[in-house]
Amino acid sequence: PDLAARPVIRQLDEAAINRIAAGEVIERPASAVKELVENALDAQARQIEIAYADGGKTLLRVTDDGIGIAAGDLPLALARHATSKIDGADLLNIHTFGFRGEALPSLGAVGRLTIASRAAGAEAAEVTVEGGRMGPVRPAALNRGTVVTLRDLFSATPARLKFLRSDRAEVQAIGEVVRRLAMAEPSVGFTLRDVSGGGEGRVTFRVAPEQGDLFDALHRRLGRVLGSEFAENALRIEGEREGLRLSGYAALPTYSRGAAVAQFLFVNGRPVRDKLLVGALRGAYADFLSRDRHPAAVLFVDCPPERVDVNVHPAKSEVRFREPGVARGLIVTALRHALAEAGHRASSTVAD
Ligand code: ADP
Ligand code: MG
Repeated sequence: PDLAARPVIRQLDEAAINRIAAGEVIERPASAVKELVENALDAQARQIEIAYADGGKTLLRVTDDGIGIAAGDLPLALARHATSKIDGADLLNIHTFGFRGEALPSLGAVGRLTIASRAAGAEAAEVTVEGGRMGPVRPAALNRGTVVTLRDLFSATPARLKFLRSDRAEVQAIGEVVRRLAMAEPSVGFTLRDVSGGGEGRVTFRVAPEQGDLFDALHRRLGRVLGSEFAENALRIEGEREGLRLSGYAALPTYSRGAAVAQFLFVNGRPVRDKLLVGALRGAYADFLSRDRHPAAVLFVDCPPERVDVNVHPAKSEVRFREPGVARGLIVTALRHALAEAGHRASSTVAD
């Protein structure tokens, strides 16, 4: 072999590492929205506004009224694997949406990112990152909270840009992310704004913070997100099994749909996609619905963090229960109970 031609092993520089990581975390504008809104929620925001232009491809801006970032911490917030949310390696005990410290550096590697923020009792400051390079921290004009602006997502990675769908499809995906998080957090207000034409733009979705008892607040929020018909047909679901708690709403079989479009699962407050829910719903409604009809349900499973692993996938949209059978059994039993109480016996009601 030609020893001179042997490749040299080199440590990648930070910008390259961030760009590679971004490939996993940030697939499209909606994934950037998910990361930024989750950061706002972790910062205890009560009002969050998401503005987008051109399907989020040219502009995304998330504004929150949360605790903010101190000027001196801004560079750290943008550094890789820097997070204020877990200390050390306590990955078994996670109570926030974020913990990897990857979103902001990733976004800074695939677009032009500006973070302006003001922490309580401090001066507002902002910093811009472009192509992985951070500018100076400068004073900013901001009363409270944080404004994160992401311009020209993927402009530096044309291959990724080419895979994006139409503006319409990207807007649809952004809307889904925001609606899911709005269901997870009824006490937070959300505004979605299309600013493609410049200026104030046009509000495309808005929900005010819901007040009161958790179930009432959730019920009202689901009415606003999924429609009043869902809320009117929704049965309150509650249950508990071996340390797992279930709550939420599931619709009467008569409200079923031709596709599984209204099935949402949240594990410890986090929206997840899991076949577990699809299977459990099918099992619970088996006596009430034909195979081509799909029940509608919004369910929350809460359990001690060590009972579920959220660290399965960089976007954290998948979870792994330590005892999936317990979770499934809990859901099926609670739903069957609620359906039976509602008087929908298998023999008397089969939805068409
Ligand atoms: P993670 O959310 O995993 O901690 P991020 O890269 O998303 O990682 O954010 C890095 C850090 O920046 C967070 O841990 C937090 O301290 C800070 N931060 C990000 N967004 C906000 C925000 N909207 N309000 C307050 N702090 C924020
Ligand atoms: Mg985050």
